[in-house]
Amino acid sequence: MSSKEKTPTNLGEGNIPAPLFNCKIQYTKIFINNEWHDSVSGKKFPVINPATEEKICDVEEGDKEDVDKAVKAARKAFQIGSPWRTMDASERGRLLNKLADLMERDYLLLATIESMNGGKVFSHAYQLDLGFSVRTLRYCASWADKIQGRTIPIDGKFFSYTRHEPIGVCGQIIPWNFPLVSLVWKIGPALCCGNTVVVKPAEQTPLTALHVASLIKEAGFPPGVVNIVPGYGPTAGAAISSHMDVDKVSFTGSTEVGLLIKQAAGKSNLKRVTLELGGKSPCIVFADADLDNAVEFAHHGVFFHQGQCCIAASRLFVEESIYDEFVKRSVERAKKYTLGDPLKPGVQQGPQIDKEQYNKILDLIESGLKQGAKLECGGGPWGDKGYFIQPTVFSNVTDEMRIAKEEIFGPVQQIMKFKTIDEVIKRANNTHYGLAAGIFTKDLDKALTISSALQAGTVWVNCYSVTSPQAPFGGFKMSGNGREMGEYVLHEYLEVKTVTIKISEKNS
Ligand code: ADP
Repeated sequence: MSSKEKTPTNLGEGNIPAPLFNCKIQYTKIFINNEWHDSVSGKKFPVINPATEEKICDVEEGDKEDVDKAVKAARKAFQIGSPWRTMDASERGRLLNKLADLMERDYLLLATIESMNGGKVFSHAYQLDLGFSVRTLRYCASWADKIQGRTIPIDGKFFSYTRHEPIGVCGQIIPWNFPLVSLVWKIGPALCCGNTVVVKPAEQTPLTALHVASLIKEAGFPPGVVNIVPGYGPTAGAAISSHMDVDKVSFTGSTEVGLLIKQAAGKSNLKRVTLELGGKSPCIVFADADLDNAVEFAHHGVFFHQGQCCIAASRLFVEESIYDEFVKRSVERAKKYTLGDPLKPGVQQGPQIDKEQYNKILDLIESGLKQGAKLECGGGPWGDKGYFIQPTVFSNVTDEMRIAKEEIFGPVQQIMKFKTIDEVIKRANNTHYGLAAGIFTKDLDKALTISSALQAGTVWVNCYSVTSPQAPFGGFKMSGNGREMGEYVLHEYLEVKTVTIKISEKNS
């Protein structure tokens, strides 16, 4: 596969096949115990193509009763003595690798569905989403038989050791912006550690998750290990976060809903919680930076996937002496876009995910104009159908404007000016978010000083949006709790048990 070594700035290069023509959706039901179920209520919900506003299909709408069924199946699969609990760790790894093989077999189909359902540019879905998902599964597969406890030299005549055990039934709630990547970021770590899962994909984008459900069965995971319940957040999602028999919930989505998830955990059974939430990430460009490189990364940092990334570099601070030149080049770059149906070749920007997000972005653009930012390009809708928004660049943005404070999740770049290092550090940290940050400079000392000072889970220097399964990802402050991926994610899916045994004699 051509997915390796892809960065946001070289996506779309290389050989990419055409998407599948007339792609048929095969899986639209609730997946529990390796079987397909209708919803208990009999309800279904429509899944829309955001580029055409047309319905792709109806999907069974899971709610509390369906979540209960899924949790029961996941609990049964987690019982002591079950096929899953007695399976060799290396076999768990083999199953995850098998799932990755099957995703590679269905690569083109999955990329086509991801593009059609999520409004993703097809080449990005093909290279980034599919490539990254397969690599993530293989990374997790290789951890399965390397999870080890320790022996501990405690005081007295005792033998003490730790076991790193799976937590149990994990609820996993997925967002719509990276449906497949988020799915494997959740199930890969949970399964390599030996947990069972109940997954709720986002209501806008359940289709690739349901296809993966079929591959989970085909790969040979025992029934009940993975259960996928499509449905809405306040119903199916809330049923997971407040469930008394779910041991852990992992959520990726908005900070507003993250607050609700933690409250639900606190009001129910104190289930473990990890959250990957919103951001308003600063990207700082110094006058000594390689300007072409900075313009390109900063551009992709905010415009990639129509701005619908939690890490979007949506507060761009540029040093005063290069400000005008930087704005000029950023505007030229933003104007180069070809918008359209993301399945069509040559298209570089697709639609926003739905009407709600589309309206929210247009409202924020309006607020930027009202609050005195200078509109350099774009600023409105595009086309006569689909949720398209023109690539928009604002200059003369100041910190108190809504566009400088609120997460926009759209193709809107805010360019601000700064004079000194102390000033820019203070301003960059002046937010309740702390997901990511970027620094562009050729001065190593400056880069190190600022990367330690910034309150962010990830700091990129002279690049942006570079993520990999080996590196931990997550937020400071209200951008989240815990980390996904890298070795760090294992701690989020394991309980540590100390076992201490009385012995008759001990020696060093
Ligand atoms: P966005 O605002 O970007 O759509 P959300 O945070 O609302 O993001 O959604 C992310 C995921 O959280 C989706 O799967 C959604 O269905 C789910 N969700 C939304 N509201 C709730 C809730 N009250 N409880 C649990 N999950 C929810």
